[in-house]
Amino acid sequence: MNDDLFNYLVATDELDDFLGYEPKCPNCGSKLLEIVYGMPDSKTGEKAMNGELFLGGCMVGEENPKYHCNTCERSYFENLKDYVEEENNFKMMEDDN
Ligand SMILES: [Zn+2]
Repeated sequence: MNDDLFNYLVATDELDDFLGYEPKCPNCGSKLLEIVYGMPDSKTGEKAMNGELFLGGCMVGEENPKYHCNTCERSYFENLKDYVEEENNFKMMEDDN
């Protein structure tokens, strides 16, 4: 995520809104696609073609990611904030050096 944007969101306490209103990639800020599992019906397939969702395939487990970023080609679990905080902690560790 862009540092300025991230700092702004944290400073203004808008991070929850930012991530909650429309899920966005904690890495690049792109809109995230919801991952749909199982056999897609025609409507679901059409949405996937239009880039409105991501087909996760037929394997449905207990711990499947919920969102997918087409830009990073990375999948995310439901709590996106974890990724942001994880990234932030990592940055703070780097700053200590
Ligand atoms: Zn991304």
